[in-house]
Amino acid sequence: MLEPVEELVRALSRLPGLGRRSAGRAALALLREPERMLDPLVGALKSAREEVVCCSRCGGFTVRGADPCALCCDQSRDGSLVCVVEEPADIVTLESAGAMRGRYHVLGGKLSPVRRLGPDRLRIAELVERISREGFTEVLLALSTDMEGDATAGYLAEILRDSPVKLTRLAFGLPVDSGVGYSDPLTLKRAFQNRVNA
Ligand code: ZN
Repeated sequence: MLEPVEELVRALSRLPGLGRRSAGRAALALLREPERMLDPLVGALKSAREEVVCCSRCGGFTVRGADPCALCCDQSRDGSLVCVVEEPADIVTLESAGAMRGRYHVLGGKLSPVRRLGPDRLRIAELVERISREGFTEVLLALSTDMEGDATAGYLAEILRDSPVKLTRLAFGLPVDSGVGYSDPLTLKRAFQNRVNA
């Protein structure tokens, strides 16, 4: 395979859901019709790279010049509740499900000894600071239900032990490996309505 094509396939195959085989097919489809397929993608990638940034308050996606983001500034949202998620993409998922009407806080991952992600690599200090500054009364953990998600939830419970906030978790009803990223809108709504004390 030509080197630039190979490079394109390699880059595409790093995307979630795209294996080497489908990345190869996508690359060939892009190259077969460059004006129709490749140019719009190049443009969209370029503007996403230049325009999309992270909100300095919640850590979610926003566009350059709109910081804090629209969700942080929306006065109609429930300012007593903050939902803690792992990734900015989780906010997008929860919002499209219409499951949550509070504020958000992105941790930027979860605790993982294997991948050397310790508490200092997550936005935990920022969360503690926001709790006292913004006066949240409930911290809702929307973390994955795997071992790393549980470790993160345990750590946050420890950190917030002496804080007056109520700590809750989404209730997925599934024992392992579920979470915001794996759930459909209905499941998310139910998980929110049935949230439990953490
Ligand atoms: Zn924000």
